[in-house]
Amino acid sequence: MPRNVAPANITSAKDLVQYNVVDSEPVEANAAPGYIERYIHSEIYRRFPGVRSVIHSHASAVLPYSISGAKTPVFDVAKYYKSDATRDLLIRDRHLGESLAKYFHAEDADVVETETLELDHSVVLMRGHGYTVAAQGIEECVYRAIYTRDNAAVQTESLGLLAAAYNLSYGPRVDIDYLRPDELSAAGKIAMTGWARAWGLWVREVEAIGLYVHER
Ligand SMILES: [Zn+2]
Repeated sequence: MPRNVAPANITSAKDLVQYNVVDSEPVEANAAPGYIERYIHSEIYRRFPGVRSVIHSHASAVLPYSISGAKTPVFDVAKYYKSDATRDLLIRDRHLGESLAKYFHAEDADVVETETLELDHSVVLMRGHGYTVAAQGIEECVYRAIYTRDNAAVQTESLGLLAAAYNLSYGPRVDIDYLRPDELSAAGKIAMTGWARAWGLWVREVEAIGLYVHER
């Protein structure tokens, strides 16, 4: 993970810190200070052996859905604070990380620690805080993280339009016409391979934009 700088500001491997999955402690004892919320990553990797990438985001377009009863799983950290916890919403320890990681299972999943565990959800919202994405590779994870943000913006606009139309009595429909369940599962599979074209463009943007510095 990046040391304690904005991830976009890392320039080379010297800005990265390696952590052990088992306890989220740095591999090197004298490692640079890092992110406190690294437990999000370590506990998901610990629980799901097939996960190779975890992204945690505070994108503002998604936040409203973490506090308004979304259908996506919402992790409420307040249910898991221990009595002496710092109540700043951050995932500051293994206990909170593990509690969050369990939300990537279906609600009714019978979790057995020893079996090979697979994701039931790719995204978990975190109340008043942000969201976390897990996937089998970096490209798919980035793709899902970006489209979680973009889809949230589309849904917000749709809800605003519906509210306006309803108030003006322009139409009878008062709910969004969401994807059907069979469309959800079919369209969901596209994301597992559909990242390739977008990824190619994003890589070119990173190379061309001049904001990011890469030292060999
Ligand atoms: Zn956070």
